Amino acid sequence: MVRQTPLMDREDLRLAVYRSFVAGTVPGVERLTVATGASAEEVRRGLAELHRDRHVVLADDGVTIRMAHPFTSVPLGFSVMGAATVWFGGCAWDSFAIPHLLPDEPEVLVATRCPGCGTPHAWVVTATEPPPGDQVAHFLVPTAHIWDDVVHTCGNQRLFCGESCVTEWLDRTGNQRGYVMDIPTLWRLAAHWYDGRLDRGYVRREPAAAAEYFRSVGLHGPFWGL
Ligand SMILES: [Zn+2]
Ligand SMILES: [Zn+2]
Repeated sequence: MVRQTPLMDREDLRLAVYRSFVAGTVPGVERLTVATGASAEEVRRGLAELHRDRHVVLADDGVTIRMAHPFTSVPLGFSVMGAATVWFGGCAWDSFAIPHLLPDEPEVLVATRCPGCGTPHAWVVTATEPPPGDQVAHFLVPTAHIWDDVVHTCGNQRLFCGESCVTEWLDRTGNQRGYVMDIPTLWRLAAHWYDGRLDRGYVRREPAAAAEYFRSVGLHGPFWGL
């Protein structure tokens, strides 16, 4: 008699992916079969669904998890150091989001280098108020195109010394200027964007709700769909 394996609960898999990233490890198929009790085939199918619905970002091999926002398994220019764990921050937005998402990590050290001139920058980021700093964040890709290549998008949401370094970098790379914001605005953007992502039953924001969120944190213009 063939034993029927019950269909895996997709939330079990999504949460297993997140728990692994939270603990500072990149979840592979084997680890996820242990965590969920599902077969490797079910895990692979579940990951493909999570990728399709933009809960995770898979590499071209269809199984390697590159991102589960705000976490990433690939270096994108940031490190985030908590009390017990070090993560690659995804982008400026994602790195600043981590202390808001993790109650056990109320303050983290976010470090990066200015893409314009290479100067190192670091901030202690908390969930209570924006860190001091007169640096600026530059986001290259407008929100309407974030998912065209989300790893590229995150890789180009960076923190610079100031406007002159943004201009220098744009000239050098031949990129068009995207959107520049100050540190307090970046912190507000990051503060609640990922709310609920570690909870069962998380639902991604619809575009209208996303636009409303962007407006509420002080962003404006067509770059944000506003
Ligand atoms: Zn610089
Ligand atoms: Zn990002």
